[in-house]
Amino acid sequence: MKVVYLDNNATTQIAPEVNEAMRPFLETLWGNPSSMHTFGGQVKKYIDRAREQVAELIGAHPDEIIFTSCGSESNNTAIKGYLAATDEPGHIITSCVEHPAVLSVCRHLHQHGWELTELRVDGRGQIDLDELRSSISEKTAMVTTMWANNETGVIFPIDRIAQIVKSSGKIFHTDAVQAVGKLPVDVGKVPVDMLTLSGHKLHAPKGIGALYVRRGTPLTPLIHGGHQERGKRAGTENVPYIVGLGVACDLARRHMQKEISELSRLRDKLEQGILSSCPDVRVNGDRKHRLPNTLNVSFEFVEGEAILLLLNELGICASSGSACTSGSLEPSHVIRAMGIPFTAAHGSIRFSLSRYNTEQDIDYTLQRLPGIIKRLREISPYISNP
Ligand code: PLP
Repeated sequence: MKVVYLDNNATTQIAPEVNEAMRPFLETLWGNPSSMHTFGGQVKKYIDRAREQVAELIGAHPDEIIFTSCGSESNNTAIKGYLAATDEPGHIITSCVEHPAVLSVCRHLHQHGWELTELRVDGRGQIDLDELRSSISEKTAMVTTMWANNETGVIFPIDRIAQIVKSSGKIFHTDAVQAVGKLPVDVGKVPVDMLTLSGHKLHAPKGIGALYVRRGTPLTPLIHGGHQERGKRAGTENVPYIVGLGVACDLARRHMQKEISELSRLRDKLEQGILSSCPDVRVNGDRKHRLPNTLNVSFEFVEGEAILLLLNELGICASSGSACTSGSLEPSHVIRAMGIPFTAAHGSIRFSLSRYNTEQDIDYTLQRLPGIIKRLREISPYISNP
């Protein structure tokens, strides 16, 4: 069956160039980079190269990059690692639309005595910078907000957030898992102290991530052990995946401008096609400040899960803004926080594209989707059908 993969904010296909680059480290160059002998030691230079490639994509120095196992580990390291390394008093600020890899870390710390502020968002999914300003107090240790939202694609004004936080003398971490590789990200221009990225969102494998830590930022490791990653993250390096992440970052950097324009063109075509062929549809999230690859739409009066199942039967992979919790279909915390009405929140679907999507993928989806929505509305309990 034809597969049209429009779920790239969940995970991405490994780029063929990444696969090729990793192969020697799975087959022949499998030594331990910490070994004294040449067989192992020769591998180290490939880790160094990958570190440079990651650093180059985000405007960092290579010695500010720590390789981790995933975005979740990077977020945990940034937040828990900084708080463990400082005597600052206990208050953390985040936003209520973070990925669980930040939100549940902050809530866990809250259960252990840290004060927590979760900034609200408006109907476009944007935080209020005045609320941020007034939430920062003497007690605040750090602020952590995402760069771009995984569900809606909404981009936070990260440079202004960073400036507000830094002018108060506080530490700022950003979860940039959905931004890196999709948008220009430059820590030389935006004064973040720490930044998280994840390999599998930019065509590297699952199981590799990185944390940028600005020189001089105190950080206690989450994983203690050997001296790898300059003592900031123990564990023998995952050499193939580190090499893969480096190549993925290099590809993203070299093709970024072209991909941004091509992805937003295809995404806009999908958006316009849906809006013109399906009645009672709304686009969720700030359309002016949005990832070029992401479209979150609500189809009124139908369940997102039902749409997904029917799309799936046709080989179209997307995802919904609802999560099935204890038998009830609850809209996600992001959709709820934006105050989207009940009848629309339940029918929210996320389409997220990548460089491997084609015009034909969008055409195929646009040919099939209106019929699915019409069919589901005919049996919708929310509409009194004749
Ligand atoms: N942060 C954001 C915004 C994400 O979208 C994700 C994954 O979906 C993560 C963090 C977690 O990344 P990983 O799957 O690499 O742990």
